[in-house]
Amino acid sequence: MPTAQLINELQSYGVRLVDPIAGHESRRGGAGPSDHKALTIEGMTVMVPVHTAPAFSSPYFVEKPDASGRSRVSRDGVILGEASFPLRPRFYELVTAEGIPYWKIAVLHGRDVLATTVLQTCIRYQSRTKTCQFCAIGQSLAAGRTVERKTPAQLAEVAKAAVALDGVTHMVMTTGTPRGRDRGAAILAESALAVKAAVDLPIQAQCEPPDDDGWFARMKHAGIDSLGMHLEAVTPQVRDRIMPGKAQVSLNRYFEAFAAAVPVFGQGQVSTYILAGLGDSKEAILATSEKLIALGVYPFVVPFVPISGTPLESHPPPTPAFMHEILQPLARMLRAAGLRATDIKAGCGKCGACSALSTYERDAAERETCEAAE
Ligand code: SF4
Repeated sequence: MPTAQLINELQSYGVRLVDPIAGHESRRGGAGPSDHKALTIEGMTVMVPVHTAPAFSSPYFVEKPDASGRSRVSRDGVILGEASFPLRPRFYELVTAEGIPYWKIAVLHGRDVLATTVLQTCIRYQSRTKTCQFCAIGQSLAAGRTVERKTPAQLAEVAKAAVALDGVTHMVMTTGTPRGRDRGAAILAESALAVKAAVDLPIQAQCEPPDDDGWFARMKHAGIDSLGMHLEAVTPQVRDRIMPGKAQVSLNRYFEAFAAAVPVFGQGQVSTYILAGLGDSKEAILATSEKLIALGVYPFVVPFVPISGTPLESHPPPTPAFMHEILQPLARMLRAAGLRATDIKAGCGKCGACSALSTYERDAAERETCEAAE
């Protein structure tokens, strides 16, 4: 089975782990996609659901790894490929002077990404009528797996260690949305400033569009290399239903903000997360992606993962066929526009672990090379 197709299948169905403690800790709760475990398949490290309801009955199994950490993926007894688990990062063993374990401040995502949620609370998360239905930002906090506010000094300390001990190559800073018109831009900027003073590490910041576009230059000046402003859903009806609070920031405002941010951060350095499977048609996702690409924004389309404990825990994930019908033409559109995951300085689009999109991009590039050689 082609790698892109296998990754699509694993991300839609999830996997059953024969050895649930293989690899390092899985993500549970937190902002954005969760309930995954990192798995490396054919050189691509991807996040695969392991704690979701579909994963518990997935037809895909991952065997217990051998002494060298290698494992195999199978379906109905047929071996489909080799897999391995990234090892537990060494920085997870360290604690701050106040006694906070480093892994409560930032965690390893994918293979080499340091990720943190600077502020683990959100104005949208306070009431059931406003919360984004897919989000579990409060769960990891309630379970004591993280701290509410990571200070700039703590983030700098952990980032420095993660680079030195584990070869982390970029950092993702997301945040719950605080009160105030900057929508988190200020705390992201002060955090980036501290990290950059401690270590040379490319940073992506993620927040809702701030009310004042002047924040983009301030964020860039603070050391933020790329910016994510995440649409999640692309049509007003789906936005209103799935994320009633965040939908108060209109699609128009998002597009205005994208247009203002690209000249500051550069073509392809502004991105947006789009969750496929929440109700938007593939035509709507592709039409929005086309508009985004024309602005120089990288649309990172990711399969929705139903996280346990959220209002959408029983919502089905998209089928592999649905994802294929989006990701294949999207990869072609990105190549035609000269936007590449590999050119992004930092962030989710560069990491690519939550979607098969970068594998489709790689396949599209290989196909172009073969066609040119013929
Ligand atoms: S794509 Fe983003 S959310 Fe997913 S593992 Fe990579 S950095 Fe984390």
